[in-house]
Amino acid sequence: MSETYYKHDGIIYIGTFPPEWIKTHANDDTGPKECPNCASYGSYKGVFIGYCLNCADYIYHGARGHGFYIYDDDINVKEITFINTEYPRAMETYLKGVNIEKIVDKILNKIMEEHPREN
Ligand SMILES: [Zn+2]
Repeated sequence: MSETYYKHDGIIYIGTFPPEWIKTHANDDTGPKECPNCASYGSYKGVFIGYCLNCADYIYHGARGHGFYIYDDDINVKEITFINTEYPRAMETYLKGVNIEKIVDKILNKIMEEHPREN
C-alpha cells in the first residue's frame, strides 16, 4: 500500500488517488481545486477521495470511478454506480480494500502530528 496521503497545491489527497490524474484537472475543470462539487462531494473530512458525479460521468465517463456523493461528516461514504460504463468503481480500483473512515482519521492524526500549528 502506498502513502496514506499526499498534498498537492494545498489539497490533501488520499494516498492511492492516482497523482497523474491531477495534471488534467485545470484543463478539464475537474478535481477539488477547479470543481466545487468535487471539493465537497468528493472529499471526506477535507481529504479528497474521488470525483463528484458530474465530473466522473460527463467528463471522464466512468474511467476515473463513478463519482462520489459524500457529506463531510457522513460516515457512509458513497460511490454511486452508474449503469452505462464499462469501467469499475473507484472502490474496486484505487480505493479497493481501503477503509476510508479509518484511513482519513489516520491521515488527520498524522497531519496534526506533523504540523501541529496548522490545526
Ligand atoms: Zn467535479
